[in-house]
Amino acid sequence: MKKNLATRLSRLGEGTRPSITPAKSLPITWSSVFAFDSLADLEAVYQKEAAGHIYTRLGNPVHDALQEILADIEEGRGARAYASGMGAVAVTILGLLRSGDHLLADTGLYGGTYQLFNDLAARFGIAVTFADLKREDPADHLRDKTRLIYLETISNPLMEVADIRRIAAAAHRQDCRVAVDSTFASPVICRPLSLGADVVIHSATKYLCGHSDVMGGVVVAADPAVLEEIHRAGVLYGPTLSPMDAWLLIRSLRTLDLRMRRHAQNALALAGFFAGQPHVGRVFYPGLSDSPFHDIARRQFSDGLCGGMLSLELTGGKAAAERFLGNLEGIKFLPSLAGYSTSVSYPAATSHRGLTKEARAKAGIGDGLIRVSAGLEDSADLRAEFTAILERV
Ligand SMILES: *Cc1c(COP(=O)(O)O)cnc(C)c1O
Repeated sequence: MKKNLATRLSRLGEGTRPSITPAKSLPITWSSVFAFDSLADLEAVYQKEAAGHIYTRLGNPVHDALQEILADIEEGRGARAYASGMGAVAVTILGLLRSGDHLLADTGLYGGTYQLFNDLAARFGIAVTFADLKREDPADHLRDKTRLIYLETISNPLMEVADIRRIAAAAHRQDCRVAVDSTFASPVICRPLSLGADVVIHSATKYLCGHSDVMGGVVVAADPAVLEEIHRAGVLYGPTLSPMDAWLLIRSLRTLDLRMRRHAQNALALAGFFAGQPHVGRVFYPGLSDSPFHDIARRQFSDGLCGGMLSLELTGGKAAAERFLGNLEGIKFLPSLAGYSTSVSYPAATSHRGLTKEARAKAGIGDGLIRVSAGLEDSADLRAEFTAILERV
């Protein structure tokens, strides 16, 4: 019988056993290239008739172990790891789309992804439209040439949740695939492939790492042929993950289940706390029972967990946000997320600074919006710290 996710995270990817006393931890294969005894061996490895590696940009034993774990926990049939989340997004698009194709993207995207898609539209002849797939029918936006729908499991920074099953059903009525950036959820909370998506992407820099010390990106696919199309671009364009970073990611994944549960528990507690505080307007977190995304989150997410990210709107706008950020002590102001310690960000000037003010307003990102990445600290300590911060806003 298939073991539960926490068990699989603890045991997968320990590698083959070259001796009767194998190292418990996978060795880091710190090599860019691999040696062949003969031309026949080289042919056999290239033709995939023999197990072996050629050159680390094409694959490395540490990548193999990482990819085995990722494919398994995302319920996919293969995974590839890259040097950053943006590298993973870029090779997915470059691998699956060509000039003349149409890409339908959700409006609630990571700022870098939004800019990349606009760049593809302007410079590479890929037509891109943005639509609010949380609220609108994807079928209304599909064209004959739509080959990919792209969205995030939990959107950044308003934590909105789209119905992946419904989007996949619309896409699969034609020759169109669905790619889901699941960075904010992690496979502990949601497995988009099991809901009908074709490809899952992560910025592994975030929860998969969780310690703010690795840049990485991941692609997992339901169909190995789709993964091959993507990895062809990965090999050609070359955003290769270093073996050391692959090894650190494996180490981080061992505690992913534990970490995600604590992140989600602290985020839920903070969301409830902020919702009643002075200076705070709306609080955005799908775990709140009055969130418009609460029901879909309940259906798509595991064990009632809604992730470690939340946002709140300060009623005093930018001036209040400046005071809030100036009052931080133990909590850090970081333009990133998902570390073991709680941090806050200011989307208007960080992740979404590349958008025009009009585009930001349209996306609902106001000047008083603060994004919180709930860490692993004691929940009562966090509440006390945020109380002190808000008292001086
Ligand atoms: C950070 C992030 C990315 C980009 O990943 P990098 O590792 O910074 O390149 C993509 N999508 C989401 C949702 C992110 O949070």
